[in-house]
Amino acid sequence: AEVPVAVAEPDVAPEIHVTVSSRERLIFPESDVTKGDLADYYVQVSGVMLPWAGNRPVSLVRCPQGRGKACFFQKHDAGSFGDHVHQVPIREKDGSTENYLYVDDADGLVACLQMGTIEFHGWGSSVATLEQPDRMVFDLDPDEGLGFDVVRKAAEDLKDHLADIGLTSFAMLSGGKGVHVVVPLTPQAEWPAVKDFADRFSRALSAAEPERFVATMSKAKRKDRIFIDWLRNQRGATAVLPYVARARAGAPVAAPVSWAELRDIDRANRWGVRDAAELIERARSRALAGWGFADQVLPDL
Ligand code: ATP
Ligand code: MN
Ligand code: MN
Repeated sequence: AEVPVAVAEPDVAPEIHVTVSSRERLIFPESDVTKGDLADYYVQVSGVMLPWAGNRPVSLVRCPQGRGKACFFQKHDAGSFGDHVHQVPIREKDGSTENYLYVDDADGLVACLQMGTIEFHGWGSSVATLEQPDRMVFDLDPDEGLGFDVVRKAAEDLKDHLADIGLTSFAMLSGGKGVHVVVPLTPQAEWPAVKDFADRFSRALSAAEPERFVATMSKAKRKDRIFIDWLRNQRGATAVLPYVARARAGAPVAAPVSWAELRDIDRANRWGVRDAAELIERARSRALAGWGFADQVLPDL
C-alpha cells in the first residue's frame, strides 16, 4: 500500500472562508486565550494536524461558554455546522444510520471552532475504510498520584513489547495526564479483530505485571497502577487527535513526540496553544519525520 507523506503541506497559512464571531470571548480564562486565539491556533497547525485528523469521523468537545463551563461531547449533527463540516452516514449497532462529522481542511476546523468546539476526537479509521482501522491506540491512564516517570516507563515498555511482535509504535502526549501509544495500521483487519488484538495484548501485559498494569475499567483495581485503556480500539470509540487543544487548565495540546524526546519530557501537558510555531517546527523536524507512519498489519497473537 502507498504510505502517505505527513509533512507535504506547504507552510503558507491557508485562506479561511468561515467567520469566527465573538473572537474576544475568553475560552481559557486563566490563560487569557480567546475564541479568536483558539481559531488562529487551529489554522496555524492545520497543515500538520489534518493528516491525522482529517477525513475520519470526529466527536467534538464543545464548550460554547468556555472551558470550565458546561461542555458536551457531540458525535452527530444534521447540518448546523455549515458546508465545511462534512457528514458520513454510519450504521449503528441497532441497525439505524446516523450522520457522523468529519473535516478535511482548515475551514472545517474553524467551522467547528465557531460552534464552540475546543477538542477534536477521532475514530481509528478513515471515512474511506470505516470498517478497517488505520490506527490502534493504547491510552495509558495513570492512577491519581502516579508521576509522569511511571507513565513514560509504561509507554516505553509498550513500545518494546509491540516491537517484539513486529509493530512500530509512536508516542503522543495527551495534553492531560497520560501518553497515547499509537500503532499505525494498513487498513485491512476489521474492528472486531483489532479490538480483540488490543484486548489480548493489554491483558497479557497486566497478567505479566499486575502490580504495574491493569487492563480493566474497574477503578478499584487501578490503585497505583496504569490503566491500559485498549477500549479506544472498538468501532465508534475515539481518541484525542494530535495537536488538539484540551479543555483543561493552561490550554495544553496533544503533542506527538519521538521516543528519544520522551525520555526528557516530564509532563503530558508540555505544549500549549501558545506554542503553535514551535509545534509546527517540531512537526517538520528530523525527530518527528515519519511520526505515525508504518505500513504494517497485526501479527497473530
Ligand atoms: P488523559 O491523558 O488525561 O487521560 P485523554 O485524552 O487520554 O487524556 P481519557 O479520559 O483517558 O482522556 O479519555 C480517552 C479518550 O476517551 C478521549 O480522548 C476521548 O476520545 C474518549 N472520551 C473521553 N470522554 C468521553 C465521553 N464523555 N464520551 C465519549 N468519549 C469520551
Ligand atoms: Mn487517557
Ligand atoms: Mn482513557
